[in-house]
Amino acid sequence: MISERLNVVDGIKNLQWQWRSSPSSAAEVSELFNLMEDIYNFDWKGGKDKWRWKACSSGEFSISSAKQLLAADPCNSSQNKMRWKVWVPLKVRIMVWRSLINRLPTKNELHKRGVILQSNLCELCNTDVETNTHLFTGCFFSAEVWYRVEAWCRLNPLLIFDVADLIEITSSQPFTKDAKYILRGIVFSTMWAIWIERNDRIFKSKRRRAIEVVESIKMSSYFWFKHRSKLKCLDWIDRCKYPLNIV
Ligand SMILES: [Zn+2]
Repeated sequence: MISERLNVVDGIKNLQWQWRSSPSSAAEVSELFNLMEDIYNFDWKGGKDKWRWKACSSGEFSISSAKQLLAADPCNSSQNKMRWKVWVPLKVRIMVWRSLINRLPTKNELHKRGVILQSNLCELCNTDVETNTHLFTGCFFSAEVWYRVEAWCRLNPLLIFDVADLIEITSSQPFTKDAKYILRGIVFSTMWAIWIERNDRIFKSKRRRAIEVVESIKMSSYFWFKHRSKLKCLDWIDRCKYPLNIV
């Protein structure tokens, strides 16, 4: 058994982790991140557990307090931008949603929760700290991927500063409703491919060039669209030339 102590910051500094084996895959690190997210601000004072609704001083749940809580949530405006009606698999939509509310286990977020990493630098460019915003919008590797996707879809120049801008790309393009529906899925597929490339480099020591990542986006989006969309699909050659045409 491998035993390892995870160095963590003040809030959970007394935790001792006993690993059978260290988290070593994207899924395991993601699960650890979610766990730490839940316990990060937990202040345990001993005693017996009981349920308490924090939004009311009485500790009792009420619909009106839940509404007030949602209205005051700074993440809520971002969440409202999420469009779930997309032809990509649920795992892709969930990953995009988690990115939108900054809940992906990027190196910067792991570091903030006290996880000691060899390096905080982005695996894709190796120059900047890996934050959610950097990974999808600021990284020059990702920028090349977006540039190629932009050319493939014949988009107007993109002005992207954060993940919310990516989710709203379709609103800045003069396309039909159906073309926007196709484009939304391609944006989601591109974010998924960037995240997978990042994970492959960290956990599998596999590296691809940006042009290869874009080829994988064309391939996965073709099959997802073909099997999951109600719209008719172009054939492979036509779709590779211009994906926003619909038959
Ligand atoms: Zn980068």
